[in-house]
Order: sequence, then C-alpha cells, then structure tokens
Amino acid sequence: MEIIADLHLHSKYSRAVSQKMVIPQISLWASKKGIGLVGTADFTHPLWFRELKTNLKEVGEGIYQVKNSLGRKINPLFLLTTEISSIYTQDGRSHRIHNLIFAPNLSIVESINNKLRLRGVNLMSDGRPITGLSTPQLCEIVFSVSKDCLIIPAHIWTPWYSLYGSNSGFDSIKECFGEFTDRIYAIETGLSSDPAMNWRIPELDKRNILSFSDAHSPQKLGREATVFKIEDIKKLSYEDIKEAIINNKIAYTIEFYPEEGKYHWTGHRSCQIKQSPEQTAKLGTICPVCGRKLTIGVMQRVEELAGCSAKEVIGERNHLIKSKSNRPPYVMIVPLLEIIAEVMESTVSSQAVINRYEQMIEKFGSDFEVLLKTPIEFIGQTFGEKTAEAIKRVREGQIFVDPGYDGVFGTVKIWSDSEEGGEEKKEQMSLF
Ligand SMILES: [Zn+2]
Ligand SMILES: [Zn+2]
Repeated sequence: MEIIADLHLHSKYSRAVSQKMVIPQISLWASKKGIGLVGTADFTHPLWFRELKTNLKEVGEGIYQVKNSLGRKINPLFLLTTEISSIYTQDGRSHRIHNLIFAPNLSIVESINNKLRLRGVNLMSDGRPITGLSTPQLCEIVFSVSKDCLIIPAHIWTPWYSLYGSNSGFDSIKECFGEFTDRIYAIETGLSSDPAMNWRIPELDKRNILSFSDAHSPQKLGREATVFKIEDIKKLSYEDIKEAIINNKIAYTIEFYPEEGKYHWTGHRSCQIKQSPEQTAKLGTICPVCGRKLTIGVMQRVEELAGCSAKEVIGERNHLIKSKSNRPPYVMIVPLLEIIAEVMESTVSSQAVINRYEQMIEKFGSDFEVLLKTPIEFIGQTFGEKTAEAIKRVREGQIFVDPGYDGVFGTVKIWSDSEEGGEEKKEQMSLF
C-alpha cells in the first residue's frame, strides 16, 4: 500500500512561521490534504519538544499520533524530524547548508539535543537552529547518538542555504559531507527543482529523491510530498520509512511546478531583471541595472552540474512523468486552493474559495484525492464544468507559468490572460 508523507515543515517556533503551526492544526491540515505521515518538525526546540511529548502518543515503533483522535477519515501519523542550519567556513569559503534529520524515537532526540547543547548550539533561538558546526561535525554528533538516524540535505538547489547552492554550497556531496558521504542515501528537491532536473546530476544516480513542502503555514502542507510504498499502515514503524528511503520504495513524488519556486531563474529582484539559462549564456551574470552579480537561479546551477540533457533522462509522460532509467516517477500539481481561486476569479484567502475547498475535500475525501484521483466527470457533476476543466488541465500539464527568481515566487495560471480577454499573453509551458 501507499502512504503520502510530508517530512519537512516548521513549527511556530521557527522564524517567519505562522502561529497556527501547532500540533492539532498540523494534524488537521495533514488530514485534509490526505497526508498519512507528517514530520513533527523542529524537534531540537526545547518548548516544541515538550509539546511533542505532551500531545503525541507512540502508536508504532517511532511512529506517533495526536492523543485525541481527530475523528476524521485520515488520522495522520507523525515521524520525528528537524532541520538544522550550518554556517561555517571550509577551505576559505563560507558555507550555509540546511540538513534534515529524522530520528527513531524520543529518547534519541533527547540525546541529540543534549549533545548539540554541549557543543554550544542555542536550541532556544529558533525551531531551525543555526549552528557553527560543519556538516561533517553535525553528522558525527547525530550518528554517534544513533546510526539509525537519517541525514538528508534539504532543498539542495536554493542559492543561499543548500548543498549545491550557487552562493554558499558545494559542487559535490563528497566535498560537503566528507567521510559521511556514503550515508547520504537521499536528497530533498526543494520547491525550485523537480526530479527530472536531479536525474541529470551524475552523483545523484544512486541517491533517492524526496520531496516535501517545507511548509510555514498549515495550508502549505503537502505542496510537495513523497508517496512511500509500505507493507501495512497499521504496523508502520520508523524502520519501514528509513528502509523505504534507503531502498527507494517510492511510488512517486508530488511536485510543485519548479518555475513557481522563488529561485528558478537567475536575476535581481530589486532591479527587476530575470534571465533563463539560455539568456544567461548570452548575457552573462552581471546585472545590467546595478552592475552587481545576479543571484544565480536553480536552473542555471543545474546546467552547470548536469552530466546530460533533460531529453536524455525524461521518458514518457501521461499523468506521471517517468524517467528513462526506472527511477520513481512524479506528478506535477498546482495547489487545490489556487485552482479554486482561479476558477472563482478570487484569492486563496477569500471565504468563498475556502468554503468551496472544504466542500470538495468533504465530498471526495482529501485534497490529494481531488487533485490526483477523483474522476473528472464526478468533479464536474458536483462542482461545475469550469472546476472540472481546471483540474483536468492541471493533470495534463496544460498550464501557463511565469518563473520565479531572486526570492520572488513564480506564478502558474490555468487559463492564459488572452483566453480570458486580457492583453498580455504568457508563453505556454513546454516541458518536453
Ligand atoms: Zn531550509
Ligand atoms: Zn541589479
């Protein structure tokens, strides 16, 4: 059977995170989305860790659930997760790397937290603490507590805080992880990259690709997710998930359009300059407005490290996008709230849009059920032809995108402005 997992998110104790990121809300929204397994996030934060211990009960080895049942169709399971930011200098260059840590139980978390504290890390400062520990030092601490922990480099392409980041990263896993390289079984794509971009990187051939939301508010849960193949949800253990990550028991991943990510193209936000990799090849990386170096986008960085072209790795595409080499496929989605907002010509925060969203998930079971599985004609029968058409277009990839750059989110639209009578026509996306 399959379980949809979102193992990278943040609690209200992390910077710039909604005060609604508390356990009951995370559990409720995971259930609405159709997420069966969600990360606790931020297990290093002393106050949050106390909330985890008070609010969760262990229902399988290393698998937790809220004590009071939600009384909903899906009662999400929790896995102990956190993210750590390492800022340090290596060989004269400064690096800022984010890593996810997954842990098998509460007492191991307690030991990791104690060791970090002894190494001078201020765990109270933020749910995603900043440390001066290098990535290998962090690995040393975590694996000395338990070899069952997993360390996964987070959103590996973002320019400022990641493994391959153009501003603060490395060119290879080995340079970053040193003697721990062989324990890096998987990477997280981040919002600005999709699996196909990662299939082009030779050293990722033997590593598995995970996608999670990095949500800072409950509605954003599951904007990316990984669907694991498991034996039995009722007997799920931490070990099963670890095994699935190491041995690639992944049915498929669910992806945001990478163009919607904040760093897809190269550019300067304040100078309103943005460039595709083709344009950058011609124009270079100096800003024509201010004369400083542009922020190198993810697509450009992939081009620098890739061993082959997109055509060489992408196989057939129907609803799923498949690889030519048997890697787990993926689906591209637009968040359901955004789809409804476009259909209703309104915004995601409008009450009418939220009501329609609640009606749809009530009727069909969950957000992912509507996006991925419910037959289009059923959607049309209850919610009208325009909604059905919108979801059909999203499933077929018939949408319009305007790429993000230098911290500005990209946008996707189901109907082009010209179809709606507007003046500006956006380029239709052609992935293949
Ligand atoms: Zn991060
Ligand atoms: Zn500039």
